[in-house]
This record gives sequence, structure tokens and C-alpha cells, in this order.
Amino acid sequence: SDKNERRRAPRVIAIANQKGGVGKTTTAINLGTALAAIRQKVAIIDLDPQGNASTGLGVPPSKRTLTSYDVLVGGDPLKSALVPTVVPGLSIVPSDQLLSGVELELADDQRRSYRLKRAVDQSIAALSHDEDGLDYILIDCPPSLNVLTVNSLTAADAILVPLQCEFFALEGLSQLLRTVERVRGHLNTKLEIQGVVLTMYDGRNNLSAEVAADVREHFGDKVYRTMIPRNVRVSEAPSVGKPVLLYDLQCSGSQAYISLAKEIVQQERKRRREEQGEAA
Ligand code: ADP
Ligand code: MG
Repeated sequence: SDKNERRRAPRVIAIANQKGGVGKTTTAINLGTALAAIRQKVAIIDLDPQGNASTGLGVPPSKRTLTSYDVLVGGDPLKSALVPTVVPGLSIVPSDQLLSGVELELADDQRRSYRLKRAVDQSIAALSHDEDGLDYILIDCPPSLNVLTVNSLTAADAILVPLQCEFFALEGLSQLLRTVERVRGHLNTKLEIQGVVLTMYDGRNNLSAEVAADVREHFGDKVYRTMIPRNVRVSEAPSVGKPVLLYDLQCSGSQAYISLAKEIVQQERKRRREEQGEAA
């Protein structure tokens, strides 16, 4: 192939839901790992001050020299803050507890919502001729609709929403969708919904099945066929600083994340074909 050919820009996906504990971080870690396992080059941006994605991928606080805080507030290039993880093909911009103060620090900046977008766009331009360009950038958002989440939706091509299969799954979703509309309105007109992924699904529980059916009725084909089962191996893995795929590849959680990654790669192929069709 022509080595001067520009590399395709990575697909930037914000993993967001202002509810805590729905599986955002678990999905960032394990979808990122599964995509890397099927030969995609992936970077995660950890935007949660808690830093669970960084820890879960084997990057302890002592190895977080440059962080997403430096990128957001200090203007450091994304590339300089990327560090390798325990997964080949998967790097991460680690988080910093200082992120929890960004709302106040940026209060007077009129363009505060564009800070991550600027860094991502610059790094995409810098990496586009590069052998190690990226296929996907996944952003792990904090559990709120604050300046960090707005930055990530402004920088992203699309939002991926993890929904926990429980009674209150849809509660708060209209607020999230209003935020998406507001961001589309002026900050990022091209923001798409990548999809909704059902998490912590329990096949033995009628409620789980009912919630899944409800969500599918609401969102139609935006809901991935793959559901992430509730699986104790998934919750054990972070304590050893590994994604579940490196901890127990055969378990149902690992297999589900591989299947989700395949769906997303197929979805992207289809989307690009349609885009090229429109351009022709
Ligand atoms: P969020 O980032 O949305 O706050 P997390 O990904 O941190 O949510 O998940 C919340 C908790 O649920 C964590 O303790 C995590 O280990 C656990 N968990 C997430 N997904 C699963 C799963 N499929 N099976 C079992 N436990 C899970
Ligand atoms: Mg999280």
C-alpha cells in the first residue's frame, strides 16, 4: 500500500452515563482489550478522577507522570501522556485526582468544553502519517454530566452508553440524551450514538430480561446484540491490575467483550462503506 496514504482517523468513542456503577470503566478496559486482541490499535483516555481504568490496566499512580489533567489543563499533547498498558496494542492516558478540580479551574475559560477536542485533533493530525496510528480512542467518563463529560462528548465522534440491567436502568437516561442534544446543538454537531450496551445481565433473573426487552424497544438496533453477563471474574480482574481477558479468557465476561468488539468493528466497516458510498 502507498505509504504516503493518510491513515484513517481513529474512531473516538466516549463511554458515558452519569450513573455510577453501570460498567463504564469495566467496558473501557475490556472493550479496549478485546479490540486490541482483534488487532485494532487502541488508546483509552481515563477522564475519571478515580482512575480505575488506569489501575485496572496495570498503571499504578507511581507511573502516572503525565495525565489527562495535564492534557486538559496544561495543554500537553495527548501523545506525550500515552503510556503502555499490560495489553499489547492498548495504551492509556492515565487519570489524576486533580481532575476533580477541573470544573472550578476552567470556570473562566470560555472555550473550556473544547480542551480535549483540541488535544485529540492535534494528536490525530500528528499521528496520521504514523505507523502506530490508532484505530480507536475510548474515553472513560466520570459518573456525572460535568465539564469532563462535556469535553469528552465534544471531542468524540460518538457516545457508547452502558446500561445496567436493573429496574432503574432507564432512569436518568433522558437527562443524558438531553446533554447529547445540547452538545450536538453547538459544541459538536456530528456527535452520533454509537450504541447502547447492556451490562451485568443475569439470564436467571426475569427482571434482567424485562429490562433488556424494554431497552431494545426504546433504542431498536442501537442496542448491541451482545449483552455483558454479570460474571464474578469480571469484578475480580481489576484487583490484580488486569483486564478480565488476561485473567480468565474463557469466562463468559471475556467472551462477551470479544463479541462486543467484533460487533463494533463490523459496525464501523459498514459505516465507512456507507460514508464512501455517499461521497462517491
Ligand atoms: P462505572 O465505571 O460505570 O462506575 P464500573 O465499570 O466501575 O462502573 O463497575 C461497577 C462495579 O461493577 C465494579 O465493581 C465492577 O467490577 C463491577 N462490574 C462491572 N461489570 C460487571 C460484570 N459484567 N459482572 C460483574 N461485575 C461487574
Ligand atoms: Mg468508572
